[in-house]
Amino acid sequence: MEKGFTMDQAMQEAARCLLCHDAPCACGCPAGTEPDRFIRKLRLRNLKGAARVIKENNALGGVCAVVCPTCTLCAEGCTAAGLDRPIRIGEIQRFLVEWAWQTGFKPIQAGPSNGRKVAVIGSGPAGLTCAAELARAGCKTVVFERKPEAGGMLRYGIPPHRLSVEFLDKEIRDILALGVELRCNSAVETAADLDRLLSSEGFDAIFLATGAWSSVTLDVPHRDSRDIFDALTFLQLAKTDPQAFAARVKGKVVAVVGGGDSAMDAAVSARRAGALDVYLFYRRSFVEMPGDPEEKRQAIAAGIHFVILTQPTDFVIEEGRLVGLKVVRTRLDAPDASGRRRPVRMAGTEHEFQADLAVEALGLVPPANAAAFGLQVDAQHRIVVRDGAGHTTRPLVLAGGDAVRGASIVARAVHDGKMAAHAILDQLKSRG
Ligand SMILES: Cc1cc2nc3c(=O)[nH]c(=O)nc-3n(C[C@H](O)[C@H](O)[C@H](O)COP(=O)(O)OP(=O)(O)OC[C@H]3O[C@@H](n4cnc5c(N)ncnc54)[C@H](O)[C@@H]3O)c2cc1C
Ligand code: SF4
Repeated sequence: MEKGFTMDQAMQEAARCLLCHDAPCACGCPAGTEPDRFIRKLRLRNLKGAARVIKENNALGGVCAVVCPTCTLCAEGCTAAGLDRPIRIGEIQRFLVEWAWQTGFKPIQAGPSNGRKVAVIGSGPAGLTCAAELARAGCKTVVFERKPEAGGMLRYGIPPHRLSVEFLDKEIRDILALGVELRCNSAVETAADLDRLLSSEGFDAIFLATGAWSSVTLDVPHRDSRDIFDALTFLQLAKTDPQAFAARVKGKVVAVVGGGDSAMDAAVSARRAGALDVYLFYRRSFVEMPGDPEEKRQAIAAGIHFVILTQPTDFVIEEGRLVGLKVVRTRLDAPDASGRRRPVRMAGTEHEFQADLAVEALGLVPPANAAAFGLQVDAQHRIVVRDGAGHTTRPLVLAGGDAVRGASIVARAVHDGKMAAHAILDQLKSRG
């Protein structure tokens, strides 16, 4: 992970802020972290107050500071952008969270017990945020997590050169210090599991935040090779067993298919682990790639070869080993339903591209078994909610984050966790 700001750098950057009254930065933050307030407090050298604003609004304020695509969120509307360049809000936010860790300042505490007990399913940003909000309000909160460790995509998806495990662990420790109980290796999968939690285990409400962990794959005739990975499996190997990952990619030609954040992360991770060449295939043009501009810049700097306007049509496999991809050039036609120009295959441009490993990074959706909770789901297996608070078709069961939105971003998962926690508290209060 790159180094954060020093105190001097944070103060200098805060000094550039125009202290706008309408604070477009705050409007652009899905998590409601209120950058205008914490920057103002930092300007007045009230570091405790500034750190408190961040953590009271966003229990994952450190993580968000590091991974938020700020240029499309808080920094997008920054008035200073018109004068010079936007204030580096993420870096200031990170400085304040790290300052609290270094000085031992605890910006948030658990509230006095209110006798209520809530189950949170999934320990990604949505689940952890909801758990923190509930614990601050005095609820006994238990987080059930299928994986051996907490953090969801923060731990198993985002690569360590962007978000280190040590940094994530510090933020999770802050949340557990509120009295949140974490039960790892504990999947909650079915309607019967929800019944059990609400009846015999005595939970008053449930928040489902199980994320989007199923990979979209290419619809091609041949794919039976251990050299073809989905992006999540590839990135999880890089995070959980870096040596095995390096042994797999070192000296290899890697073809990554896709143009989003997962594609950039897979490509850069392969290159950093010693891949000879990494080619990133994308069927539209460079400007239409959904990846964060900063991540694209980092991918270019890492030496990734962008092969745009090119669509893979099949894998070439010999005796179980991948030897290449069949690809075809595309041109752009009128915009499709996504608003982006539709790629059309160009006849006569089919050719083969040599590669040793392939990574499909075409998007993530909730798994098909999301319906097993007995709740209404849509065609993409996303849990259907009735309102912004995340009420599902079953009373006292709320849902949020990627399980509801499909693949999204951390700050929106934080927003959903907060909204659900407040709705649960209102509901429990009204029941007396
Ligand atoms: C490679 C990659 C890079 C990304 N980069 C960024 C970025 O730079 N910036 C950004 O803002 N966002 C990024 N994202 C997106 C971001 O990580 C997600 O939007 C966010 O983590 C969603 O949070 P969540 O809590 O809804 O779900 P998740 O983080 O997916 O967490 C869900 C949790 O639920 C657990 N779970 C699932 N089913 C069960 C079950 N039945 N019982 C118990 N537990 C269960 C899972 O194990 C997981 O821990 C990235 C995603 C990926 C994949
Ligand atoms: S949480 Fe993210 S979007 Fe919100 S102010 Fe902080 S860096 Fe910007």
